[in-house]
Amino acid sequence: PSAELPRKIFVTGHRGMVGSALVRRLERLRDEQVARGEAPLEILTRTRAELDLLDQRAVHAFLDEARPDYVFIAAAKVGGIHANNVYRAEFLYQNLVLEANLIHGAHLAGVQRLMFLGSSCIYPKLAPQPLKEDCLLTGPLEPTNEPYAIAKIAGIKLCEAYNHQYGRQYISVMPTNLYGPNDNYDLNTSHVLPALIRKVHEAKQRGDAELVVWGSGTPRREFLYVDDLADACIHLMRLGYDGPLVNIGSGTDVTIRELAETVMAVVGFEGRIVYDSSKPDGTPRKLMDVERLAGLGWRASTPLAEGIRLAYEASPLRAR
Ligand code: GDP
Repeated sequence: PSAELPRKIFVTGHRGMVGSALVRRLERLRDEQVARGEAPLEILTRTRAELDLLDQRAVHAFLDEARPDYVFIAAAKVGGIHANNVYRAEFLYQNLVLEANLIHGAHLAGVQRLMFLGSSCIYPKLAPQPLKEDCLLTGPLEPTNEPYAIAKIAGIKLCEAYNHQYGRQYISVMPTNLYGPNDNYDLNTSHVLPALIRKVHEAKQRGDAELVVWGSGTPRREFLYVDDLADACIHLMRLGYDGPLVNIGSGTDVTIRELAETVMAVVGFEGRIVYDSSKPDGTPRKLMDVERLAGLGWRASTPLAEGIRLAYEASPLRAR
C-alpha cells in the first residue's frame, strides 16, 4: 500500500462539473509545488473524442501506456429525475461499462490507487436520516434512479473486490447534491438549485412579480459547492485514505423555500414565491451523515449563499 503523493493523476470526466473542479484543485496543488521548487504533479485528461470510456480496449491500452499513479472516476452518465427514469437502459449500461473498464483497466495497468465517485441515491429510499455509510444495501432503492444507483453500487463493490483480492487501494466517495461551475442549467433535466438560479435570473430580467417553485417548498435538501467536494477528495488522496465508503456533504440542509429565498437574495430579485403543487416534492428529506469525513479531518467551508453567488457568476446566464 502506498500513501505517497501521486505524481501522475488521471481525471476522467474533466469537462463535467465534478471533474473540472478536481482539475482546478489539482492545478492549485501543482502551482504550490512549483512555487516551493518541488517536482510538480502531472494532470492527465482525455476528451471523449480522444478516449471513449465505453471502449474497453481503448481504455485498457490508454491506462497501460499512461500508467497513472492515481485515477479519479468522475466520469459518469448523469441527469435529473426525468432522464434517469426514461433512459434506464443507458444509465445502467453506460455506467457499468465505464466503471468496469476503468477499474479493471487500472488494476491490469498496476495502478495502486483510485477514487470512485458515486452519489447519495445509492442509499435505500427509506434509510434513516442523516444517511450513514453503513445503510448501503439495507433496503429497496428509489425506483426512478434505480438503474443509476445499481451501477454505482456495482462500482463500489468492484473497488472493494480488487482491494480485498489484490490489495489495491480503490476508495469510493458519495457526494451529496452538488452545484457550481459547469452545472446543468437546462430546466427539463437540471436539479433544483441550478433551476432556481436560472428561474430567478430570468424572472428578474423580465421584471416578473412572481417566482414559480415546484412542490410545496417544504422538502429539505443538502447542498455542497463543488469546489468543496474537490477539496475533500484531494484531502483524502493526500491522506492516503484507503478505508471504506465516505460520504461527502456539508452536513446541513435547508428547505426548498429557504433555498429559493437565498437564491433571490443573491440574484437580487424581490418577487413573491408561488408554489406549483402539480409538481412532485420527492423525498421529504435527504441529508448525509458526514461524521466519518469529519473524523478524517475535513469539513465543508463554503456557505450556501457564497456558493450560490460563485455559481451564479460562473453560470452561462451571466454572459447573456
Ligand atoms: P431530488 O433531490 O432528487 O428530489 O431532485 P431535485 O433537485 O430535482 O428536486 C428537489 C426538490 O426541489 C423537489 O422537492 C422539487 O419539487 C423542488 N423544486 C422546486 N422548484 C424546482 C425546479 O424548478 N426544478 C427542480 N428540479 N426541482 C424543483
